[in-house]
Amino acid sequence: QSGGIDFIAKPYNEKILVAKTKIFLHLYQERLRTCEALIEVETARKRSELLVHNAGEGIIGLDNELIIHSANSVACALLLSKKSDLIGSSIRTVICQKEDDDKTWEESPLVRAYSESQNVHMEDALFHRSFGQPLSVEYTFASIVSNNTLDGGVLLFQDISERKETAGKLIQLAQFDQLTGLYNRMMFHSLLDQILTGANRYSTEIALHFLDLDNFKDVNDTLGHDAGDIVIQEAARRLKHCLRDSDIIARLGGDEFGIIQRLDEQRQVSGAYLAERIIETFQVPFTINNTDAFIGCSIGIALYPEHAKTGADLIKDADTAMYKSKQSGRNQFHFFSNEMQDQMMQHMELVTSLKHALENKEIFLVYQPQIDLDTKSVVGVEALMRWLHPKRGLVGPDVFIPIAEQSGLINALGEWCLLEACNQAKKWSDKETGLALEVYLSVNVSTNQLAHGGFSKVLKRVLDVTQVDPKILRS
Ligand code: GH3
Ligand code: MG
Repeated sequence: QSGGIDFIAKPYNEKILVAKTKIFLHLYQERLRTCEALIEVETARKRSELLVHNAGEGIIGLDNELIIHSANSVACALLLSKKSDLIGSSIRTVICQKEDDDKTWEESPLVRAYSESQNVHMEDALFHRSFGQPLSVEYTFASIVSNNTLDGGVLLFQDISERKETAGKLIQLAQFDQLTGLYNRMMFHSLLDQILTGANRYSTEIALHFLDLDNFKDVNDTLGHDAGDIVIQEAARRLKHCLRDSDIIARLGGDEFGIIQRLDEQRQVSGAYLAERIIETFQVPFTINNTDAFIGCSIGIALYPEHAKTGADLIKDADTAMYKSKQSGRNQFHFFSNEMQDQMMQHMELVTSLKHALENKEIFLVYQPQIDLDTKSVVGVEALMRWLHPKRGLVGPDVFIPIAEQSGLINALGEWCLLEACNQAKKWSDKETGLALEVYLSVNVSTNQLAHGGFSKVLKRVLDVTQVDPKILRS
């Protein structure tokens, strides 16, 4: 009862005592070793248990029938389930099949990996939480093989909802315009290229509409930038309202929009019909902060495959046609034509050469005299700008002044004109070297120069430099 397991009778034999003692010592040491080994195994088990339970990932142990036999606390928390509810259920109740996935359970990645004693990693999967809520996860399943037979596996998973949300936001930022929610320019180009590839295959015809709001800067200038933003949003809403489901719309930037319209047989009519509809919807005023603003839009249309074969060329041609609508008075649409392209090229060439016309001394002034009919004497002159183009010869102000106004060159030209005319008037009035001619001087000033601001400073500078009597300047 006290634990004795052997005995020796007195009087004892020394040899037997020593032999027995040796055996017991040996047995004792063996027991100690076994105990230490057991402690080590237990410690390792506890350590791995600790590791499993404190891991950042959900960990689920599966038996050879893919039934859950263990789950760490993270797994329970992520699946919103009690451990007792998870244990004993099939992993099939946790893994959710995506809607567009037509595979059977046996063909699912985890089951296939298990049947082939393999591991599998899924970047983007769905698990069922309790109460039927889906959870986006990334998971790894490792099959366990012991003694050449499949013996269940371990499933490690983590919640990727936040990562997916961030990725979704990045996609949103990369593909959509933040102000209107429409596709952005980059996406528009890429969708157009995709559609053109398909159009080629199915011989579809396409109308590309390029739109730009008319005088939109006025809204920003008079009602403020925020009001401008509201107009852009409202314009996007109106445009969407005019479209069919098969049409694609994007904000290309600023006050520009692009529309890809798939055409039916009456393509010209259909392209024109949409453009007319759009122009009509812009006839209704935009109400911003109780103020009605009338904002039209100019549209250019290019047709595929008639006008261009690539997306970039189609956009360029539609832009050219839109420019024609602007030039023709705005609030209208034009189809692209090759003559338009030639006119555009000529216009661009004029814009470029006008930029260098002043420094190349190609601009000069002529003076139209103003005569007093009673005295028949010259009482004033009007300074008029002319441009002697090296290749085209004399270009009329009716051609180059609008170009100068549109490109902003009018400010430099206007200042030069004022300086040159005042210098000339000064020379004429000089009694010693000139004609001693005291005449009034009229110089044309573009409204752009006045709107630009700082015109009074320019005028003062010119008067200071030329020392002309300000009284001779007449409107
Ligand atoms: P046009 O009839 O020739 O088109 O003249 P416009 O006044 O409409 O001027 P344009 O189309 O050349 O320029 C568009 C302006 O839109 C330029 C810029 O100041 C303004 N803009 C660009 N992006 C935004 C935006 O996001 N919000 C606001 N409020 N204004 C913008
Ligand atoms: Mg505009």
